Parts: sequence; structure tokens; C-alpha cells
Amino acid sequence: MARVYNFSAGPSMLPEEVLKTAADEMLEFGTTGQSVMEMSHRSKEYQAIFDETEANLREIMNIPDNYKVLFLQGGASTQFAMIPLNLMNKNKKADFIITGQWANKAFKEAGRYGEARAVASSADKTYSYIPKTTAADFDPDADFVHICMNNTIYGTKYNELPDTGDVPLIADISSCILSEPIDVTKFGMLYAGAQKNVAPAGVTIVIIREDLIGNAMDITPTMLNYVTHAENGSMFNTPPCYAIYIAGLTFKWIKKMGGLEAIKEMNVKKANLLYDFLDNSKMFKGTVVAEDRSLMNVPFVTGNDELDAKFVAESKAAGFVNLKGHRSVGGMRASIYNAMPIEGVEKLVAFMKKFEEENA
Ligand SMILES: *Cc1c(COP(=O)(O)O)cnc(C)c1O
Repeated sequence: MARVYNFSAGPSMLPEEVLKTAADEMLEFGTTGQSVMEMSHRSKEYQAIFDETEANLREIMNIPDNYKVLFLQGGASTQFAMIPLNLMNKNKKADFIITGQWANKAFKEAGRYGEARAVASSADKTYSYIPKTTAADFDPDADFVHICMNNTIYGTKYNELPDTGDVPLIADISSCILSEPIDVTKFGMLYAGAQKNVAPAGVTIVIIREDLIGNAMDITPTMLNYVTHAENGSMFNTPPCYAIYIAGLTFKWIKKMGGLEAIKEMNVKKANLLYDFLDNSKMFKGTVVAEDRSLMNVPFVTGNDELDAKFVAESKAAGFVNLKGHRSVGGMRASIYNAMPIEGVEKLVAFMKKFEEENA
């Protein structure tokens, strides 16, 4: 068996150890005589898996007690509607910063339920930077401010949070969750689809301050109301049981690796390998301004479409897959989530060096 280095933006690599444990436990979990996939979500065995999973996430992310952790379905994209339905509830206004396609989708969806305002945007330069804002840019009457913390397609990341005063800040952390420590208390709500850094697709993690729950619009469908899930321990209906179990294995792996400080150190090392190479290469160059670079998604180009295509084809043949960039940026993108081992990045850089020499 030869596993490739998978640089996909999502779904993406999972830690090998997680996959191996899942394989070992596939036919029988513990002494239950059944797979986790086959378990009743109401069984005490499954509840134990669920409780341990939530407890470990709370520990790793240092989530305060006044925040609920919800395990939902529908992907991050369903949150684009749930957020306005539940939280655009006082003045029916919200502020958005448009840092890419996901941020824009959240903004557009909110506009269906209230007054969504784009405070700033980096569309003018293909979202290659994070726009600067000051407290004065935000409407103090807004019900919330929404940002996309790490822009998966464009490779930018917030290294400094916007100052929104007393207005709750909500962040889409789909592609940076668990990549480094985050101060949860700075946010009203955080959310992430699991398929970038946590688990297979199918579970969406919502971390929400309790006082923000309970004032949804009357039209809110029961399943889209945070109250429904908060009051039922994410088991109002069948949760994505197996994806939650895999998330639990990933959380255990993160604890074993030394927690988020250690994970960050590893991620910085990996990202720097790639960025240092890009900064010194005559052929390849990164597309993002240095101060806003993502640790997780690294887009780069040669400036020549034919050469880009050649690189994507040859790298794939050499075992580095999914390096083709998003169609809106072109070129290449290496997504180097937590599960990408440092050897994967070292070998990619060596391959890029060789390619540059051969095609100079
Ligand atoms: C992948 C991604 C999404 C979409 O997630 P789904 O779970 O497919 O809905 C949203 N936001 C960001 C930042 C993403 O990376």
C-alpha cells in the first residue's frame, strides 16, 4: 500500500493513527460486538463516546462553561442561514467582511433575512489580503459581525481580530479549527465543517455563547434553531454518529501530540518550509501578502498556465495529489492541514526545486 501526500483543500488528510484506530475498531468497538456505525445513538456506549469527544474538544480549545458545543449536520454552509435566523434578532442588521467566496456566501445568505452590510472587502485584489478595519467601521447596532477566519481558497488568515466593540464576533473557522490556539472568549460564536481538520464530512461543530441562544426568528425551522440542539445535547434527532466518533479520535490524537501549542509549532514549521521556498524561488511565487498568510492553505503560481498544468500533472505522478488551485485563483494550492506530516512538505519542496531546475 502506498499512501499519497494529499494536499486537498477538503475533504483532506486525516492522521494515519486515527484511520488505523478506526480500522481496528471497525467491526467491534470495545466489547460491544458492533461497529460505531451500527450503534443506537441513544445507547450508553455511544453516549460515552459522544461525551468524551465533547469533553476533549472543550479541553483542547479551552472552551468556557458558558459556551455550548453543538455537533450538527448540513456543513458550514447551513450555518450561513442558521446564523441570521438565530442571531439577527434585535435590530435585524449584521456586518460582514468579505474576504473570499465563503465569507461572501455567508453575507448573501444573511441578506435574505435582514439587513446585511459589507463593511470591507478584498475583492479588488482577488482576496489576496485581509482588509484593515477599525472599531468605527462597524455598526454598534449590528446584531453581530461575521468574518471568515481562514480563507481556504485564497490562503489568507486573520492574524489580528477586528475590534467590534460590544457587537458579538462570529467566525467561520472551517479550515483553521484546531490548527493553533484560539481565544474562544473573543467570539460570540465559532463554527466549522469537520472535513478540513477534524473528521470526514458530515458533522459541523458550533461553539456558541449561551446568551446568544434562544431568540431565533419565528420562521426558524425547528432543526435550524440552536435551542433545539442545545437543549437536547445535539441529539434532538440522529446526529452524524460516526463522524463525531472520528472527530473524537482526532481530538485524542491532538492531546497526544501535546495540544494546540504543539500543533501550532508543527504547522508554523511546515508552512515556513513552503513560504521560504516560494520567497526564494525564481519560478514559483505565493499569491498572498506576507502578513496575512494562512498556515493551512498555500496558493502559488508560476505565472504561466502551461507550466502550472505541467507541474500539477508531474507532481501528481510523483505522489503529491490535489495541488491544482481553485479555479478562481488558478495555479496551485497546497493545503497542509494538521494531518499532513512534515515529510510531505519537505518532499514537496524538494520536488518543486527539482521541477524548477528542470524547467528553468
Ligand atoms: C469548506 C468551507 C466551507 C464549506 O463547508 P461545507 O461543510 O461544505 O458547507 C465554508 N467555509 C469555509 C471557510 C470552508 O473552508
